[in-house]
Amino acid sequence: MSNRISSLSGCVLTVCVYLISVFPAFSQKPLPIDPVHLCSYDGSPIKGPLYEFAPSAATNQIVDHILLAVGLKPRFEVKAANVPNAAAMIYNNQRYILYSQQFVTQVNQATHTDWAAVSILAHEIGHHLNGHTLGLSGSRPSNELEADEFSGFVLRRMGATMMEAQAAMKALADEEATPTHPPKSARLEAIAVGWTRAGEKANASVIAKKYPDTTSQPEMAGNTGSAPMAPRSAPIHESQVLGKVVLDASPDKEYYLTREGQLVKIVEGTPQVVGKLSKSDDASFPFVIIGQNNRVMVLADTGILYNKNGERLGYVKEN
Ligand SMILES: [Zn+2]
Repeated sequence: MSNRISSLSGCVLTVCVYLISVFPAFSQKPLPIDPVHLCSYDGSPIKGPLYEFAPSAATNQIVDHILLAVGLKPRFEVKAANVPNAAAMIYNNQRYILYSQQFVTQVNQATHTDWAAVSILAHEIGHHLNGHTLGLSGSRPSNELEADEFSGFVLRRMGATMMEAQAAMKALADEEATPTHPPKSARLEAIAVGWTRAGEKANASVIAKKYPDTTSQPEMAGNTGSAPMAPRSAPIHESQVLGKVVLDASPDKEYYLTREGQLVKIVEGTPQVVGKLSKSDDASFPFVIIGQNNRVMVLADTGILYNKNGERLGYVKEN
């Protein structure tokens, strides 16, 4: 693996030098960030200084398709860069996906499937959507597994088989765990779990149909018509929190489920009730959250939140 990476770095360097000499003014620019805190797909270290290049149209298209599969609008920039494989980062409040064009081409050729590159990009997007790039702590095994699971989920939604979703990981991951990355066996399992969960879509939508979004829920604070939110009478203490709700579309916003069955959003430090939690009679999807404007969210026993079409909205992290 390390031989492959060092020879890859050499190739990437050659490409950089070539591009710099041919298009001196605008084809590349330095990316003055500290690469220490970045996670690469297989855990290999990222060495600066970094340079960003315009992405290929094909890679931009893959990212658009990934976001389409999870129902999100693109909120990050995709750049080719001199990274060992691919990385997610936030710089100057802008979310970036960096990838090595050389690596993407090579991994697709090695695995004989274009899904390999898709799964790597999906993994990096998964870091952004799960809020892993908000801190400076760098990579952690649990974060890697969440991003792997997301990639499995997305690839099934895009039409890949489980084998195709796992192809890149089979070829690239280390067998042994490292301080930042879990062993290959765990990462393959995470992809399989995500891929399988993508098939649960139909079930979630069945539960949500029992709670049509035209239903009136007069007892619930904050959902009457277009009334935006109801302030909570008291601040929430940690003991009252069932879990933190992380929405894929806005992972940096703070939402909590309380033991009183409320969905609470923290707005400028003040808790606002924005939804109500009710029990459903289905063990696989035990809770339903009715939010603002009677928006229905179904909570699976796995902690994943779905909308009424059975599409993933986010997840609940237990307290
Ligand atoms: Zn990662």
